[in-house]
Amino acid sequence: MLQEKEAHAAEMERSFIAIKPDGVQRGLIAEIISRFERKGFKLVAIKIVIPSKDFAQKHYHDLKERPFFNGLCDFLSSGPVVAMVWEGEGVIKYGRKLIGATDPQKSEPGTIRGDLAVVVGRNIIHGSDGPETAKDEINLWFKPEELTSYSSNTEKWIYGVN
Ligand code: UDP
Ligand code: MG
Repeated sequence: MLQEKEAHAAEMERSFIAIKPDGVQRGLIAEIISRFERKGFKLVAIKIVIPSKDFAQKHYHDLKERPFFNGLCDFLSSGPVVAMVWEGEGVIKYGRKLIGATDPQKSEPGTIRGDLAVVVGRNIIHGSDGPETAKDEINLWFKPEELTSYSSNTEKWIYGVN
């Protein structure tokens, strides 16, 4: 039992997930949150913010050489973004699966982008692509005191660990 518990704790990770201005304006906040929530992931931080362009450039710094970088940062800073941290076993990788491919034309039906978006420049959601970026993005968007830590009674039913 203790081993199971330790294994569970070791697998636990956090991902930064953001609903971009198009997702917010289109009224998709609840739809997107419910997909992560129903899966069994746990929401540990959430806020709505309009990021500055400078902040958007920091968030997307890895893409600064790409031709779409400027337009992308203009877009991210054009309106409210719902910034979240979701926790769970495998949430970084599986969160990307829930989200679907970057280009909604290539996203499978059943994924968030596959079901709810049409073009790459308006693909409604961001999700961290690995453990390092997850850490960096959580630190960029949230202060430590904005992150909660709590246990939920559903966890024993989701993970089978008490
Ligand atoms: N993007 C774009 N044109 C492209 C590729 C990406 O406008 O050709 C935008 C798109 O909104 C994407 C974001 O840039 O979500 C970040 O790109 P990345 O490759 O990191 O995709 P993601 O991790 O969001 O799937
Ligand atoms: Mg990315």
